[in-house]
Amino acid sequence: MATRYVFSFEHKHRKPPMSMKDLLGGKGANLAEMTSVLGLPVPPGFTITTDACRAYMTGGWPDGLDEEVAQHVNGLEKAMGKRLGDPADPLLVSVRSGAKFSMPGMMDTVLNLGLNDESVEGLAKQTDDERFAYDSYRRFVAMYGRIVLDLEGSLFDEPFEAAKQLADTTNDAEVPPDLLRYLVRAYKEIVHRQTGKPFPQDPQQQLRGAIEAVFRSWNGARAVAYRVRERIPHDLGTAVNVQTMVFGNRDDNSGTGVGFTRDPATGAHGAYGDFLLNAQGEDVVAGIRNTLPLSALQEGFPKISRQLGQIFERLESHYRDMCDTEFTIEQGRLWMLQTRVGKRTGVAALRMAVDMTKGRKWKITKEEAVQRITADHLDSVLHPQFASNKLDVIAKGLAASPGAAVGRVYFTANEAADAADRGEQVILVRTETSPEDVHGMIASEGILTSRGGLVSHAAVVARGWGKPAVVGAESIRIHPNRFVAGEVVVHEGDTISINGTTGEVVLGEVELLAAEPPAEFRTILGWADEIRKGRLAVRANADNGPDAANARQFGAEGIGLCRTEHMFLGEDRLPIVRRMILADTELEEESALEQLRVVQKADFEEILEAMDGLPVTVRLLDPPLHEFLPSTEELAIKQATEGLTAEEEELFEAAKQWHEFNPMLGTRGVRLGVIKPGLYAMQVRALMEAAAERVKKGGDPIIEIMIPLTITRPELTMAREWCEQAIAAAQRKAAKPLAVTIGTMIETPRACLRADDIAFDADFFSFGTNDLTQMTLGFSRDDVEGRMMDAYIQHGLLKRNPFESIDERGVGELVKLAAHRGRKTKPGLKLGVCGEHGGDPDSIALFHEAGLDYVSCSPFRVPIARLAAAQAVLGRGSGGQPAGSSTA
Ligand code: ADP
Ligand code: MG
Ligand code: MG
Repeated sequence: MATRYVFSFEHKHRKPPMSMKDLLGGKGANLAEMTSVLGLPVPPGFTITTDACRAYMTGGWPDGLDEEVAQHVNGLEKAMGKRLGDPADPLLVSVRSGAKFSMPGMMDTVLNLGLNDESVEGLAKQTDDERFAYDSYRRFVAMYGRIVLDLEGSLFDEPFEAAKQLADTTNDAEVPPDLLRYLVRAYKEIVHRQTGKPFPQDPQQQLRGAIEAVFRSWNGARAVAYRVRERIPHDLGTAVNVQTMVFGNRDDNSGTGVGFTRDPATGAHGAYGDFLLNAQGEDVVAGIRNTLPLSALQEGFPKISRQLGQIFERLESHYRDMCDTEFTIEQGRLWMLQTRVGKRTGVAALRMAVDMTKGRKWKITKEEAVQRITADHLDSVLHPQFASNKLDVIAKGLAASPGAAVGRVYFTANEAADAADRGEQVILVRTETSPEDVHGMIASEGILTSRGGLVSHAAVVARGWGKPAVVGAESIRIHPNRFVAGEVVVHEGDTISINGTTGEVVLGEVELLAAEPPAEFRTILGWADEIRKGRLAVRANADNGPDAANARQFGAEGIGLCRTEHMFLGEDRLPIVRRMILADTELEEESALEQLRVVQKADFEEILEAMDGLPVTVRLLDPPLHEFLPSTEELAIKQATEGLTAEEEELFEAAKQWHEFNPMLGTRGVRLGVIKPGLYAMQVRALMEAAAERVKKGGDPIIEIMIPLTITRPELTMAREWCEQAIAAAQRKAAKPLAVTIGTMIETPRACLRADDIAFDADFFSFGTNDLTQMTLGFSRDDVEGRMMDAYIQHGLLKRNPFESIDERGVGELVKLAAHRGRKTKPGLKLGVCGEHGGDPDSIALFHEAGLDYVSCSPFRVPIARLAAAQAVLGRGSGGQPAGSSTA
């Protein structure tokens, strides 16, 4: 049997139509639900399925569609007792697009279809209202011209404005019939002139044109761009709804409105919405005329107000959620035109979810409440936001660290720090940042750079602190004390606002909404913790005491990654590290290491104290040594100009010696340990002494030592040996030995493949999915993210940036395989992940599937990870959000 392409709203499907959005689109599914299940007053109509759209996209206008549409139009005609195009009493319809996900950029709705030069007269007679009939025709010709025939809307606006002036009114409804008649003629001439064809008079032809325009709009540029951004697959197609018109513009006993069953901004109980008297459809949204609040209905339309209230209750209990609706009143009669589960702010989402668990007539479970909150909802209550979105954006960069900030611009870390000392709010603006800028970054409200990607120094550091940052804003040019963005010149001390959630840079001060998690925030996260307890833990990546304390406040259950290199970069440490690198003799090296040990011990103590009683995974030194040396280019320039001091000469030699062609794949990780054997032992000693110190003070340190970048078992055997010796030496003096575990990062494809082997010497694995992604995909993140990632996503070659959300089919498979092989050797092997994927909801779902025990992410992502971990445990719902697998 040929596929059936058309279903009337009354069709009795086997499943609830509201669950059939794939086939009927969101709008069609809910119109059918309201009609066939809830029996609400919905103007009759039918839905042309997404199957038809997909068939159209591959093979043109589908066979048999015309007949099916004609048959259903016939059904409408029978039901309404009117015929499409009838010169005496015409049936009029709207043609509405409606994909599975609501999508701006899709074709707009065409209203009043079926009017032509003859039927408009019939409508006028039938309604005894010439003004109304011609107003409807005028709207139809303009809408059809703009939407179906792709003409500029302004072509029609200008004559209308002129007509209103002639009529000496600003109210659309007061333009007299003769002028409307004249306008219709003018509009039809515009269409003829612009398209070379007369305005179609045949309603069948009008209908087919509108349906085809909806199909075509699926692949329109705006719709495609929206799908790319929202990660909606391109092959879903859209449905088309054809529905009998009802008229809110009949008279003053008519009108149209939108209503929410609760306040979508605050979550407060009670209906909320806008209403317009004597108006049609889009007038409310377009903001052309001043709307009335929904409560105003009580006066003019008390019966309808009550009826609407009952419908709202019905809808809420049926959808078990807040709904938004469109409705129209035609001569005192209420019609429902649309409903769906309504969008809401983060604050409202939290409040409603918690409230709905306590309902009396109906309620949701805690699990459902937890599943209704998204990462974006949490993000919006955790970070300040721009209060308005009508902004003068002067540049856009990468959204590197969420939240908004306002401050005066300074171009160096020192000036930024000085200004902050004077009590100013500061935005640090740099081409890029380096460890030397850290004091200025701390002092700033936000950071803006013109270069670098999402893992640039500025981005990583800002995210770690939860400080707003926009990086890689390539359109701005930075000069010593000003920057230029297009026409705009911003001088030192000028105020700008940045939004690290969107990447926007705005001139001047934008009002901010404070970050103030409502009480329900804790409630929801508490429920999330109950759900994931013992299934998937959440730790944080933190390198120092304050970050660790912060992470704990956000609910982290330990540290999954403590990077020791950040301790080496401090102003007081760098010279010692360099001495170690420069050491000619073992003695020199040992003495440098000894000095480092002392400072490291203090750092470790702070962290262990902040995380007392919780596990702390300390990663031994990972980055290549050249990162601790000055840049060869700078020294070469200095050598050529001013000349170098003896010490600089020496550093220059070392920098050349340690220079790496491809540092990502060079002497780093455990390889460093192999060539500087004392290094790891020193770090472990420092750690053990810090732990001993904590024990002495009554603390409960739990230590996990992590070896980075292992690729073979013998490497780990060797590194483990060093660690165990250092531990044993430290424990000899201890009264009660600590149980220290030793594990490795798994961050190369080989380590994943050899995980069974490596597991023999590991107490735990922690997947380093940043490096694993770089090496598995062969993407150098810093290079590809800025240059080609966008193009890849635009072309659909990647669905998402694999550094943000794990590449399920590649990297994800490797993680699963390594987890499986590791546990074959050692069933109790503890598994975790550190790196940015640990804070990404879709990746977290995969890690849970892979059997990991914990995820670890930056402190500010911890609440989101707690929520996502609970959602992963509950299973990926068939929820409203598009799925996010990254790559084909
Ligand atoms: P959108 O998806 O942009 O909201 P809609 O298809 O919902 O588009 O239609 C736009 C406007 O037209 C809405 O206000 C809707 O209520 C109104 N509308 C659509 N169909 C009809 C109809 N058959 N009768 C009256 N108004 C309608
Ligand atoms: Mg709508
Ligand atoms: Mg790594």
